[in-house]
Parts: sequence; C-alpha cells; structure tokens
Amino acid sequence: MKRIVILGGGESGAGAAVLAKKQGFEVFVSDMSEIKPQYKALLDEFGISWEEMQHSESLIFNADEIVKSPGIPEKAPLIKKLRALGKPVISEIEFAGRYTTAKMICITGSNGKTTTTMLVYHVLKNAGFNVGLAGNVGQSLALQVATENFDYYVVELSSFQLDGMTEFKADIAILLNITPDHLDRYDYNFQNYVDSKFRITQNQTDQDAFIFWDNDPVIKAELEKRNIQSALYPFAIERSEKTKAFIEKDELIIKTLKTIFTMPTSELALQGIHNTFNSMAAGLAATIVNVKKESIRQSLQDFQGVEHRLEYVATVRNVRYINDSKATNVNSCWYALQSMKTPVILILGGTDKGNDYAEIEELVTEKVKGLIFLGLDNRALHSFFDGKVENIVDVQSMEEAVKAAYDMAYFGDSVLLSPCCASFDLFSNYEDRGKQFKDCVRNL
Ligand code: ADP
Repeated sequence: MKRIVILGGGESGAGAAVLAKKQGFEVFVSDMSEIKPQYKALLDEFGISWEEMQHSESLIFNADEIVKSPGIPEKAPLIKKLRALGKPVISEIEFAGRYTTAKMICITGSNGKTTTTMLVYHVLKNAGFNVGLAGNVGQSLALQVATENFDYYVVELSSFQLDGMTEFKADIAILLNITPDHLDRYDYNFQNYVDSKFRITQNQTDQDAFIFWDNDPVIKAELEKRNIQSALYPFAIERSEKTKAFIEKDELIIKTLKTIFTMPTSELALQGIHNTFNSMAAGLAATIVNVKKESIRQSLQDFQGVEHRLEYVATVRNVRYINDSKATNVNSCWYALQSMKTPVILILGGTDKGNDYAEIEELVTEKVKGLIFLGLDNRALHSFFDGKVENIVDVQSMEEAVKAAYDMAYFGDSVLLSPCCASFDLFSNYEDRGKQFKDCVRNL
C-alpha cells in the first residue's frame, strides 16, 4: 500500500491526511510543534496515526510521497534529507487536485489574495453556484475534496503552496501583482519568487483563462519571456487594445468576446485603486464562468470587506483609526497610504523581511506627520526614516503604540496601523496584532 507522510498537522495537513485515508493510503502525520486539539480529534476520528513535537525519521523516510505544509521551508534539514533521498514532496493543493474534477479558480499575487478570493467566492455563492472556498482561507481544499461535492473551488494560493505544485491546473488563474516579499524563503533571489508565482499558469491550455494586472512591470517582463498558452484577460486602469477590464469615465468596464459589463466605480463596495483591481479580477472571473451581469454588480456592491485589511475601527476625538495589520510588506502599506485623504500617523514595524522602504518614501513625506515604530528591533526603520520625518517614537507594545498615536494626532488626522512587516516579534500573528490594535483603540 502506498504510504503518504504528511508534515505539519495544521489545517492543510490534517485535511490532506483525511483525504489520503479516504483514498485508501497508509497515512502518517508528523509535526515538529504541538498539533491543535481540533486537528488531533479529526485525525483520531479517521484513525490516522500522528506524532507531535518531533519528526521520527524512521516513520518518515519510508514514505512513497510527502505532503508538506507550506509553513515548512525548503531549507529545513528534514526536507533537504528527503530531497536527497529522491522522495517526492508536494503541497496539499497538489495532492487534493488529483481527486476532484471541480473547476478551480485560483488566486495569487503578493497582495490582495485574500480580498480577491473572498470577493470571487462571494460573487459565485450569491449567484447560486455550488462553490467551496479553500487555500489560505477557510477549510483546506483537501478536506473539502474528501467530504464535499462542490462544482467550483475558489482557492487562495501563496507562493509556498505553489512551490509544491507540478501537475495541478487552474481553470481560471488570477495573478494580481508581484512585488518583493518572503525573500528570506527564496535565497534572497527575487526571480525565484517570481517563478513561484508564475506556477499559477502551469499546465494551462488555450481553454483556460489567465487574469492578470497588465501594468505590473514584473508580470509584463515575464509574459515576454514565457510562452503562455492560456486565454489572456489583462486588466488595468487605462484601456488598451488588449485589456479586458478597465476604467472609463468613472465606470468599471469588463469587455470580453462574450459580454460587456459596466458599473460606476463609486458603487464598488471596496474603495481604493488596489481594491478596484481586485474587483476587476473578480468581475472577470465571474464573467468567464457566466455569472449574470446583474448578479455580479450586486455582489461587487454589497461585499462586506475582510478584517485587518484597511478596516475602519473607530473615530476618537475626530481622529480616524484604521487597522491594516495584514499589510505585512511595503507594497501593501503603499496602497494604504495612497488611499489616505488626511494627514497620517503611521504605526509600522515588526519582523523585517529584507524591506526596502524607498517605495513608500514619497507618500510618507507627503502624508505622514508621525511614525511609531512598533518592533523589538527598529534599527532598519531608523536608518531609513531618521531625519525624514520629524516625529518618531519607538514602542514595544500595542498599548504604547496606540497611546503614542493618540498623543501625536490632531483633529482630522488618521492613525493607520500598516506595519510593512510580519508580526512574530511581538504578536502571535497579524490577526492578534490587529485585534490588539482594535481593543486598544476602543479603550481610548
Ligand atoms: P494577501 O492575502 O495577498 O496578503 P490581502 O487581501 O490580505 O492580501 O491584503 C493584504 C494587504 O494588501 C492589505 O493591507 C490590503 O489593503 C492590501 N491590498 C489588497 N489588495 C491589494 C492589491 N491588489 N494591490 C496591493 N495591495 C493590496
């Protein structure tokens, strides 16, 4: 019997284990940390053996195939050994993709994945499609393939998931943008990260769709190098000969061979240019699967937004507080600043992934009155921003950060948490960081 070993017993690992068991394989789950109680219960329910706080090589090296959690880096010693042994190491999505014929709408990009994924799902669900939400958001694809019977999946794919995918094919692939991120996982070589993102188009034929931002210089350069077979659906603000979605006279227009869709941009639920791109991508995907225009319009209008993404928290003494804790890289902070219409007190900092703050320098100079560095090690921030912004304060907790922002802000300003960095130095994750921010603001 084929033996599948799953490394990492989180959402994707536990799901992959259930699916593997249902497919009749011998299954073993191994996690270097503690496995959460809910996943232990799930594994036990399906009679799947597991271990935690260790990787027993004797139980792992005899695998025929390994399903690796996206959280485990390629340079982990265990993965290196498995590679040296010639064992195939794949991602949960690759594994799940083998056992379903559902149509896959897959979304990747450096920023906007979750927002766009939720938006596409919202549009399809509202239109009455039998559709599942998977990948980085919601339940794992594998668990749903094992226990549900959806006709469509909307799947958020990170570069780490894409790295473990070779045979999988997206029927509709969305690539929102590519800017440097996670370079620590890609040997500080941007091209490696770009190649990972472009795996979203792998195995596509002319029967499949590739939706992408036409003005992204990185995507543009790659398209010239690559021989992509997919039907192309570029979107951009400016209309061109090729663009299938664009803005004209304040209307979002989608123009494909099949249809012409228009909608005033003022009616879009998600505001800001970055979100207009996300709406274009979602609208294109919906058009391709033949959602009715009226239904697309309705859904793009009534979407509720996603927590921790430019989320309005409260107004205190006429100062608006905005939680953009999910801005874990410089580019997403750029869009946040770009959408601000008032002077800003910016809270940023955390675990720096090799950031280049030059990208936000102009907007900081133009809009930011004060910077609050919230991190254990703020040296990189100081070396870039010292002398460029007058008010700079170092803090090491969210409570101090919000207090400092409150002291700095005047009538009509906005306080924006948009950290450019990961959160792991002071918080358990970006959600924890965002929640603490909201709690502190509400306690002002
Ligand atoms: P991801 O899942 O790719 O991290 P999210 O939807 O969670 O993306 O958004 C992450 C951050 O990026 C948020 O701060 C959000 O405001 C910003 N953002 C959302 N869409 C885009 C986009 N298309 N381009 C740039 N930034 C974006």
